[in-house]
Amino acid sequence: MTQVAEPAIDTTDAASPTPGRVSHWIGGRLVAGRSGRQGDVYDPATGVVARTVDFASADEVDQAVAAASAAFPAWRATSLSKRTEILFRIRNVVEQRRHELAAHLTAEHGKVPSDALGEIARGIENLEFACGIPNLLKGGFTEQASTGVDVYQIRQPLGVVAGITPFNFPAMVPMWMFATAIATGNTFILKPSEKDPSAANFLAELLAEAGVPDGVFNVVHGDKVAVDAILEHPDIAAVSFVGSTPIARHIYETGTKAGKRVQALGGAKNHMIVLPDADIEMAADAAVSAAYGSAGERCMAISVVVAVGEVADSLVDAITLRLPRIKVGPGSDPDAEMGPLVTREHRDKVASYLESGPAQGAELVVDGRQHVLYQEGQGFFLGLSLLDKVRPEMECYRNEIFGPVLEIVRVPTYAEAVALINDNPYGNGTAIFTRDGGVARQFQFEVNAGMVGINVPIPVPVAYYSFGGWKSSLFGDLHMYGPEGIQFYTRAKIVTSRWPDPGTSKVDLGFPRTR
Ligand code: NAD
Repeated sequence: MTQVAEPAIDTTDAASPTPGRVSHWIGGRLVAGRSGRQGDVYDPATGVVARTVDFASADEVDQAVAAASAAFPAWRATSLSKRTEILFRIRNVVEQRRHELAAHLTAEHGKVPSDALGEIARGIENLEFACGIPNLLKGGFTEQASTGVDVYQIRQPLGVVAGITPFNFPAMVPMWMFATAIATGNTFILKPSEKDPSAANFLAELLAEAGVPDGVFNVVHGDKVAVDAILEHPDIAAVSFVGSTPIARHIYETGTKAGKRVQALGGAKNHMIVLPDADIEMAADAAVSAAYGSAGERCMAISVVVAVGEVADSLVDAITLRLPRIKVGPGSDPDAEMGPLVTREHRDKVASYLESGPAQGAELVVDGRQHVLYQEGQGFFLGLSLLDKVRPEMECYRNEIFGPVLEIVRVPTYAEAVALINDNPYGNGTAIFTRDGGVARQFQFEVNAGMVGINVPIPVPVAYYSFGGWKSSLFGDLHMYGPEGIQFYTRAKIVTSRWPDPGTSKVDLGFPRTR
């Protein structure tokens, strides 16, 4: 393992794991919070507080930055072959211990084990991509750009970089960020969601086990106080953020004002167009899995189906038929396919659209509040819900619901369907279901969204492409992970070199020319 300088922090109160308390991970060890501020972490399936999480002060963020800064010189100097070896080991240990990681996700997020394992598999893809770092960091070389002059480009790490992540993918989104960040030679500080913080600490343990030197990967827990300390810290060079649009905007504006490189991914309202020529059964299956998987708490979930022309009635029937077959229940139930929502407040907010939608003229086809777990359970459950005849001016359409509520908007033509998507302030993912290749091609050409599915409802790019939306779904220039992630976490240095023959050097006061 590469030796790094001891981090300049006081770890005298470093705690061994305290059951029921989630502490920071700084400089390769657990560090109990000293701010006196903590948050409750719920088991969403039972509604009980399962543990507490420490909330970092600005001083504690500073400790993490000190540890990451101390580790940076040795880590950036670690050879690419050594870094690759460590990345392979991270990939293997995460894969081997994925069931334990999945258990953390189910316990605090509520997603069922099959969904948790799917999240981890998509995260592992990013680790596998990062294992190719020697190839990914190759620069260009121009021989004889001028007589006796060569020009070449190298890409170097930024330094200490931070990632601020949302509750809905507590393992995958951190992997989107840290895989490429540390592969490119940066040291990393993760500020995970305070709603489900344990996966971050478990990942920190796995990275340490894989041989990541102390201080290269750190976790500080907390809320706005920790986030603002990250945004203001002069020794943090870049911030990656994934979360809701208002916070993404705040992160982008504040971080860039402080001179940082920022990529901030925001919320979404993903539309799926179904044309009259589509395979209705295929489209209904796709809509149900994309709308209700993970209880609709996915940034790439389909939340609006745009039914074009005469397809609407049969499509709504086909979707409605499928909903009672989906088993809602806690992750401990092996048959459960959809778990609870993350908090009671969020569940109640989602349920409120089942009130406001019909009040504004929508038709409530399936009401998830009828589910026994909503009515009698202590957990944060809401059954699958379907709203038909939704109009763009309704509150349920204008807001990102982020729950198990699918909306149907009926439009007469393809042109109106595309206009609806292009007028929407979000532009994360979108999909079209059709058998007509020409229309599909036209759609990919003219739709204003970052990720497009053609008969694929959740077009999350594979790790060797990059992930990012348009409009209010992303603030910044570069998308996350993949080739754009490599670009985000490195900066270019162009070297122009000449090795003159002895005795030929002379002073030239003219501006350099290239001939
Ligand atoms: P959120 O914006 O509430 O929180 C995200 C992070 O920001 C968390 O770490 C949180 O602690 C922090 N935060 C919250 N309020 C803050 C404040 N006032 N100041 C500073 N930091 C603050 O998002 P969430 O509820 O955890 O996640 C769900 C949202 O994330 C949805 O809007 C979803 O669409 C979006 N999301 C987007 C993508 C994407 O790729 N575009 C992916 C996943 C989730």
